[in-house]
Amino acid sequence: MKKQLYSLFWLIVSCIPLFGQNCGTPSPTDADEFFFGKFIHKHAKSKNTRAGAVPLNYVPVKVHIIRNDDGSGGVDLIALNAKFAELNRAFLPVGLQFYFGGSGSIGGTNPTADSPHFINSTTYNTTINYNNANTFTGILSAYNVSNAINLYISSTIIGAEGFATQPSPGFNHVFVNYLAITNTVNKTLLHEFGHYFGLYHTFQDSNHATVSNREVVTRGLGANCSTKGDRVCDTPADPYEQLSSTQRNTVNNACTYALATPIDANGVPYQPSITNVMSYWSRICGLNQHGQLTPGQYERMKIGYIARTDPSNQYTLDCAPTNQPLPGLPTAVVGTNGIILQWGDNSITETGYFVERAESTNEPYICLGGVGPGTNTYIDSEFSAGRTYHYRIRASNSTDFSGVVSITVPQNQTGYCFPVYTNQVCALVSSFITKVKINGTALDNTSDFPSPCNANNFSDFTALPPAALVAGQSYTFTLKGSTSLHYAIWIDANQNGTFETPEMIAKSTTSGEMIGTTEKSVLVTLPATLLNGATRMRVRTADFASGGVTNACSRYTVGETEDYTVTISNGSSLPQIQLLSTFPPLCAGGNYQASFTTSGSFSGNNTFKAELSDTYGNFAAGTEVGSGTGSPLTISLPPLLAPGSYYRLRIISTDISVSTNSESIRVYSKPEASITVSGNAVVCAPTTVSLTAATGEGYTYTWKNSTGTLPNATSQMLAAAQTENYRVEISQNGCINESGPVAVTINPKVQVNLSGAASIYASQSANLSVSLTAGTLPYQLTLSTGQQFTNSMNNPFTITVSPTTTTTYTITQVSNTQCGAGTAAGSALITVLPTQFPCPQTLVVHASLPAPYQASETITTTGTIQYTSGNISYTAGKSITITSPAAGGFWQSGPNTVFEAKITGCQ
Ligand SMILES: [Zn+2]
Repeated sequence: MKKQLYSLFWLIVSCIPLFGQNCGTPSPTDADEFFFGKFIHKHAKSKNTRAGAVPLNYVPVKVHIIRNDDGSGGVDLIALNAKFAELNRAFLPVGLQFYFGGSGSIGGTNPTADSPHFINSTTYNTTINYNNANTFTGILSAYNVSNAINLYISSTIIGAEGFATQPSPGFNHVFVNYLAITNTVNKTLLHEFGHYFGLYHTFQDSNHATVSNREVVTRGLGANCSTKGDRVCDTPADPYEQLSSTQRNTVNNACTYALATPIDANGVPYQPSITNVMSYWSRICGLNQHGQLTPGQYERMKIGYIARTDPSNQYTLDCAPTNQPLPGLPTAVVGTNGIILQWGDNSITETGYFVERAESTNEPYICLGGVGPGTNTYIDSEFSAGRTYHYRIRASNSTDFSGVVSITVPQNQTGYCFPVYTNQVCALVSSFITKVKINGTALDNTSDFPSPCNANNFSDFTALPPAALVAGQSYTFTLKGSTSLHYAIWIDANQNGTFETPEMIAKSTTSGEMIGTTEKSVLVTLPATLLNGATRMRVRTADFASGGVTNACSRYTVGETEDYTVTISNGSSLPQIQLLSTFPPLCAGGNYQASFTTSGSFSGNNTFKAELSDTYGNFAAGTEVGSGTGSPLTISLPPLLAPGSYYRLRIISTDISVSTNSESIRVYSKPEASITVSGNAVVCAPTTVSLTAATGEGYTYTWKNSTGTLPNATSQMLAAAQTENYRVEISQNGCINESGPVAVTINPKVQVNLSGAASIYASQSANLSVSLTAGTLPYQLTLSTGQQFTNSMNNPFTITVSPTTTTTYTITQVSNTQCGAGTAAGSALITVLPTQFPCPQTLVVHASLPAPYQASETITTTGTIQYTSGNISYTAGKSITITSPAAGGFWQSGPNTVFEAKITGCQ
């Protein structure tokens, strides 16, 4: 049963997008923001408890194919399966895979049961306007199912190629036009599903009337990327809505963004991604072929899935897959042009098949491609020599798989891409090549339908006797077709397994040049630079509507492709490049060395470039990651590179152009490295500052200060106890990222030391010295006498005391304004000497002194010295100077001899 259509509130409050020529999804409303915000916290919780790989969720899609009143028009299932294979591939990092929901007829007008469901309405097929809800709300109320994503595909959408809604409790639909499904390079479906699961345009609010509501370029401190713009921080701020059409064209024509203006609120020039699927730049200069999503966008869509499956929504995403027999265990054979897969077509209710591949059975399977119902073959032309691949098959209206077949490609295998056609030559009224002849050579082939019969419409005639051709010579080709067809011919001049654009040696550009049912002669002059030896030649045709054959592999509607072998002589020998390096898992943002050897000679202008494939190992969308004039090349991976297991690297030379490919390389993203300070970063000892590093699965931590790594500091948290600039290095999957510095100031408590021991006489004064050993001026102190002092500027600080008796001074309390009470050490003993006596004086020495003595001697008594006129005692060991009674004479002493003595210190 369908649930009630949710209130029209969401539509009514939606803003009309200013730049809707590509996408008609309304700007997110406050209600959208509120709804989505509820799930962010929930997601953060589930993320923290999750371990291991992203679990897969299978999501049903109800495809409503809108056709004309008479049932004509509408997308076909071949294109639909192929496009959904691409969608599944793109959503693998989100943990979502799609299937067609419904268990009725394959094509029919019962919206609940039939899959896909047909809506035969010329009106709906031609008048849906994203900007006028009246043109499509009737569809929603009549045909929406309540347990799957409703995808409507019409011939035309006025003003846009597609539109969807942000996650909401009531709206559950995506609209795209015919081209979004049938054009192999069109990314509109992915873009609209991005909106459906919560992505905004990268330029969201970029021209907001309130400047502070625009996303700034800054990341890290001062960033607003998590609350403004597209709410995703690894997509750079994009000023698209601020730009004039002239500026947009400048970017479009250059295929690069280099505008100095506008600048953001901080005065920083923008540097938007021009390849992001959720930008409008990804449609420029062919880049829509490889629009990318970022890890941040994947994370946001995971929340979008939670929002879309919330139990309080007025719809669910739980339409059951069609119960049907599993596809038979596939077989895999390495053919000249690819790995040929065949499986048992055991079901009569499949809507088509998806082919999935993994390079390790521990890795998620990637959806390689989709074929229509009844087709049980697929050719995987994206493979590397020496690699092992595992394949499995799923019906596109099922979530269950066939068994897995594994195959290892021989080391010496080279592969040519397989062509793609929408219409099978042998299944439909056909348009095929009937004759290929090179006059004056052994090649003279008359042929009918291709064999085996499949959607590739491909015939492999490479085993026929080759034509012997001389480089630089001209030859007349005789071509014939079953109907009027555009044609193009390639020779793989550098024998690298790829038909590159410069290797096209002939093509038709006008209708008059097309081939047809009468033989046509084409004069072709071969390049002088052909490589000697057996060389692949391709003849490819396509219908008039294609506008001409421009690519040796891409999808055309009708036509055929035939490959031949020709033998070249008098050509050149191409140099070779051999990649030596093998690559363990790499890290986004990392720098690496790629070593290679070469043989043969390159021109003086040659440079070598390192290119990184897209996440699926394809170089059509390769990114240059390094260049130089010889081995090794330093490779710098982009810091925001999406993680993936199927990247490949190749080294290509510019002059002469040859290349070498690596095997699959795993790339991990750099862990996020940031530090959060709990509370104040400026504290007084012994309080420490608590620093918390970012958290993530498998993160390991190394804390550092300005002098290096801190010993034993490997937890997520650090209690910083010193004034320092702290950083944390975070490692995940062998990828390391280091945070910026966080300054911590630990102010010491004031600490003073008292010194200044001295002996004085009763009437004298002494200076105590207070030195500051930690902390800062000014400080207040209390002496043990109770006196208080404030020292604002002197170190050491002098306190003058005049004790009357021997006193030991200490400091009983010290404090400063910065950190309060501190500590004091030391003491000062001020000895107050007794009242002194006059000198000289007559002393009685009780000791038995040795004799004779010099007239003036300093002796050390061993006994007690007595002062004759009194009874003052001196402690043994005091020095006294004895003056002889007669100068120059001698004297002797006995007990109680009387001397005149001078005592050190007497007055
Ligand atoms: Zn959009």
